[in-house]
Amino acid sequence: MSDPELLAHGCPNGHYTNPGHERCPTCGESQRETVDLADRTGEVLTWTESTATPSGVRRPNTLAVVVFHVADTTVSVLGGTTEPVAVGDAVKPEYVPELRDPDVAVREAASQAWDGYRFRPVRDE
Ligand SMILES: [Zn+2]
Repeated sequence: MSDPELLAHGCPNGHYTNPGHERCPTCGESQRETVDLADRTGEVLTWTESTATPSGVRRPNTLAVVVFHVADTTVSVLGGTTEPVAVGDAVKPEYVPELRDPDVAVREAASQAWDGYRFRPVRDE
């Protein structure tokens, strides 16, 4: 089974968001187009480190806003990282089956999906 998609949602006027919305936040048109970002490389726009995290979330937890180029524009995606990052780092999405620990989280484990994407820095190889 391949990893799920990490989708940018686009409207007819070329605005993209992640997550998607019923209506484009910029122009109000329906978002009908999707672009899968899962195999793309993005760039860290900014990041922060949370040291007071909810139960089931690792501590510290580094969160980054990552910008991807889509068509003639960009879309920013908020997500955790697998390790510390710096502004301007190239990163790729990495699928994680459990972003938090369902056993110690507040919500019922079966009530929701726990998987998603983190960003892994792309090192020179
Ligand atoms: Zn729009």
